[in-house]
Amino acid sequence: MGIMERMRLDGKASFVTGGARGIGKAIAVALAEAGSDVAIVDVDIEESEKTAKEIADATGVKTMAIKTDVTNQTDVDQMIAAILKEFGKLDVAFCNAGICMNIPAEEMTLDQFKKVIDINLTGVFLTSQAAAKVMLKQGKGSIINTASMSGHIVNVPQPQCSYNASKAGVIQLTKSMAVEFAKRGVRVNSISPGYMGTELVLNAPHLKALIEQWNAMAPMGRLGHTDELQAIAVYLAGDTSDFTTGSDFVIDGAFSCF
Ligand code: NAD
Repeated sequence: MGIMERMRLDGKASFVTGGARGIGKAIAVALAEAGSDVAIVDVDIEESEKTAKEIADATGVKTMAIKTDVTNQTDVDQMIAAILKEFGKLDVAFCNAGICMNIPAEEMTLDQFKKVIDINLTGVFLTSQAAAKVMLKQGKGSIINTASMSGHIVNVPQPQCSYNASKAGVIQLTKSMAVEFAKRGVRVNSISPGYMGTELVLNAPHLKALIEQWNAMAPMGRLGHTDELQAIAVYLAGDTSDFTTGSDFVIDGAFSCF
């Protein structure tokens, strides 16, 4: 079988947290286009339902939308149960939901700091742990976490200490789980995107000046497009990456190189 056929995900079952929009949606589309059934997991159920229908109509795979707060253990357990009921198994977990707060470190309250860590790091722990429990029993599975180039560098000018710390945490959480599960068929990797021109970013009037600054600083002179993350998602989800675990893939147009 040729490489393009071996990269396909036909017959697999996946979930994507934060899958309603932005990067998560682009990843869910890619997994579905490659043949996987996909659950859109997000706090925003209206948008998740729209995304799930759009993907099913376009690709013909089975999709479902599940309202889940990734910081809530009960929600996460119910999400996994719903996926197993509908799809019968879980092959791919994309733990992607995340938020950012741009607040100077000396002004950030404990609640604000904890909120970012809760969603970006604890949420990734809860969802990847819940997925791993199923996958370890199956003896196979691929977990992919969305970190960020901000897990590698302190990007300026905007202050975002909690975000940067949470994403560095995601990278080490990923490597730790990868080592623990390595002999048991479950792989864990992360992707670290640079600045991506998601709809929310491009359409936010308060970000216009910042986007100009980012473009001026970027070696390629532009933001990334969400479709530029799709191929790595399909690769990590599928069996051609069977020897790839504990790796972080930086996709930032060389932004973090200096
Ligand atoms: P986005 O705001 O467009 O989408 C995030 C989604 O996550 C939303 O649909 C939101 O409803 C959902 N979400 C938020 N909190 C949640 C929770 N507690 N439980 C479940 N769902 C929740 O964001 P995006 O730009 O697509 O970012 C997706 C991921 O990529 C995040 O982890 C982000 O940190 C990371 N990232 C983004 C960029 C970028 O430039 N956009 C760069 C690097 C990394």
